[in-house]
Amino acid sequence: MDTILVVDAGPSCVKFQVYSVEGEGRLRQQLKGRVDGLGSGPRLRASGPGGNPLAHRAYPIEAVPDVAAGMDIAGAWLRDELRIDPIAIGHRVVHGGPDHDRSVLIDHGVVARLERFTALAPLHQPHNLAPIRSILARFPMLPQVACFDTAFHRTRAAVADHYAIPHRLYAEGVRRYGFHGLSYEWIAKTLPRIAPKIAAGRVIVAHLGSEASMCALSGGRSVEGTMGFTALDGLPMGTGPGQIDAGVVLYLISEKGMSASKVHDFLYRDCGLKGFSGISNDMRELEASEDASAKLAIDYFVYRVGLNAGMLAAALQGLDAFVFTAGIGENSASIRARVAEQLAWLGVKLDAAENVRHSQLISSSASLIPVYVVSSDEGLMIARHTLALLMDGNLKNPRHESAS
Ligand code: AMP
Repeated sequence: MDTILVVDAGPSCVKFQVYSVEGEGRLRQQLKGRVDGLGSGPRLRASGPGGNPLAHRAYPIEAVPDVAAGMDIAGAWLRDELRIDPIAIGHRVVHGGPDHDRSVLIDHGVVARLERFTALAPLHQPHNLAPIRSILARFPMLPQVACFDTAFHRTRAAVADHYAIPHRLYAEGVRRYGFHGLSYEWIAKTLPRIAPKIAAGRVIVAHLGSEASMCALSGGRSVEGTMGFTALDGLPMGTGPGQIDAGVVLYLISEKGMSASKVHDFLYRDCGLKGFSGISNDMRELEASEDASAKLAIDYFVYRVGLNAGMLAAALQGLDAFVFTAGIGENSASIRARVAEQLAWLGVKLDAAENVRHSQLISSSASLIPVYVVSSDEGLMIARHTLALLMDGNLKNPRHESAS
């Protein structure tokens, strides 16, 4: 059985999924797993399609010191115990920079180019690249594909891609890239099956998870969004503030004496729902809390989603549908209901019962704008890109070559 391994490596965790390649290029998830607790208590956990547990084991800290070692543990388990020998590996890579508008076959030159974007996505890029490098060194013939969170947004017009700063900075890469592109691409590809006419029109997608952003789609293409140069911009997130006056950063440096690295850690780790509420970065905990600061943090989150929806509707010059996705968007009926209230001026009206049921269409028949809940599947999107490159003949499948 041909399989594709999908890898999403982050700072303290390597997530992986295995897809089998079936007739006519269809992909079926065979298992998913993660190596987490890197630096504290490393564990490998994996489960099959129905959630049946396949592995749950712990390792000494020194045996799995970093992300590359986490990938090695997962790879050895797949290879040696499950006899899974993938025909290619697709990696989520957060930043593709200005040039990559699609997924790309990885070689040493690509890795060197992508390393240059580490400063633009310091929380993710180095960890995305670590397993790529170690696999390239150990299995140089195994095709690896980088799938970018930025690529889907490279279709945006110049006005949506720039800041009002001197052009030389744009030329060296200071641009409004946008992120969560694999999630938005999934929605853009899925929507035509759900509502073909609407998918060809103007749609706002709200990816509301521990990281949160929104994207304006016109005819399935990204035209505007809330994230920019880094994934810090836009909506408040679990630990990031979202849109913030650059003057606040200047204040932290000049008046509070914070170094660049202190400001960095503050903005990436100590703000957002966590910093604002002083309670948690987890929306479930905030929703369960009676604390006034939890309520205010949720009010702020909902208010900012509403404000940004107005901005994106202006970019689209109207609106034909609104889509919720990601952890909060797919699971919190109460946040969806509150966001819908913010969108009432656009003619949005939810069907309360369908919303509580987490139905796909949650707006009432009286709503001028249909509202959908669509779960995004970034792993399958990566597997599809990887297989598409293989089938294009751009990648050589070493196993099939040696068999012929
Ligand atoms: P993600 O990053 O997409 O996995 O989303 C994580 C976020 O979704 C966290 O803030 C979770 O608290 C939130 N979340 C997941 N399930 C629920 C739920 N049932 N109600 C509210 N928030 C949820």
